[in-house]
Amino acid sequence: MIISLRAVSRLKSGHVWIYRSDVLSSTDAAPGAVVAVTDERGRFFGSALYSSSSQIALRMISSGAVPDFPALLRERVRNARAYREKLVHDTDAHRLIFSEADFLPGLIVDRYNDILSLQILTQAMDAEPVRTALLSELSEQLKPAAICERVDAHIRELEQLPPRESGPLIGEKTSTIFTMNGIRFHFDVREGQKTGAFLDQRENYAAAAEYAHGEALDVFCYQGAFALHLAKACERVTGVDSSRPALEIADKNALLNQFEIDWIEANAFDLLKDYSAAGRQYDTVVLDPPAFAKSRKNLATALRGYKELNLRALKMLRPGGVLVTCSCSYHVSEGEFLEVVKDAAQDAHKTVRLVEKRGQAKDHPVLPVVPETAYLKCLILLA
Ligand code: SAH
Repeated sequence: MIISLRAVSRLKSGHVWIYRSDVLSSTDAAPGAVVAVTDERGRFFGSALYSSSSQIALRMISSGAVPDFPALLRERVRNARAYREKLVHDTDAHRLIFSEADFLPGLIVDRYNDILSLQILTQAMDAEPVRTALLSELSEQLKPAAICERVDAHIRELEQLPPRESGPLIGEKTSTIFTMNGIRFHFDVREGQKTGAFLDQRENYAAAAEYAHGEALDVFCYQGAFALHLAKACERVTGVDSSRPALEIADKNALLNQFEIDWIEANAFDLLKDYSAAGRQYDTVVLDPPAFAKSRKNLATALRGYKELNLRALKMLRPGGVLVTCSCSYHVSEGEFLEVVKDAAQDAHKTVRLVEKRGQAKDHPVLPVVPETAYLKCLILLA
């Protein structure tokens, strides 16, 4: 496949995506094929996975020829596993394969104890020989009780792939209990209702627990992962979320660990406004909202949202209190997020000390040439 000079210079800078507008001539490659990438003069730049429908037409997989992609995939699965074996500790749940960051673009595999949950996001990864090689390698390497697929119907539509159901591909087990940092969690893959923790926060949960004390408030608690981690160190923990199903699982998780935690179903913005107006105080506050900036366009609104949350949280902190504040918006940079927190502290008349600037856990490595692989910010501040 012939690419433009602009794409050549992107490749030279290390990026691994080529957009459709930079593909000059298409051969009659099949959707999901492995193709050779060249410039107009026939210079060879490597091999890529082709998508006939995505805006990202080519995802580079090698600077050389790839005669047998399923074999290469097997090798990369082994490498991804070896890396986790060495560096991921205190957990039987982690991300085993993180797409581009593990040189397997379009593939995500998470491990929850004895169940593997996989997501296929591109035509190339959906090809039958690729699926077969993947399942066989994962089974051999990890011997899971089950391998389940989580289908994103919207992505399959965008990739022009036939619809599929979520569910087990190998084995029948659909629920299990996993343990991270000594805390136990329910996991259930049925009905696409994925439960579990946000694996990218795993190391941040443990870090938050080191600073936590006194009365704690976990805002946007989902199934309670931060709250559960704080419970050992704190006198009293309250989790807040607007999703009742998430809180029901949070409660089951608390029971599983024999912790007493109060769960409140509420809109976090309203609750923080009411609580701070009522003069409530806490020693530890965690803020882990959903991504407010879905695109660069709504950055300003997103920053206002972060500012408001952080301002209210800081106002409620007792002297010596801890704020753990997160943003998973890729479009909000660490610098912008820090600026928001600094402004919030100023408005709250608090002098804060930044003690940790954290990101994603090590099982979610970042490819500096693909900035999209870095999205999570987690700051720990002392008030
Ligand atoms: N801290 C969690 C992950 C949070 S994900 C963990 O580590 O597991 C974001 C959560 O915010 C979701 O559970 C979602 O239900 C909740 N949410 C989204 N908007 C909200 C709002 N306005 N008020 C309260 N919760 C909200």
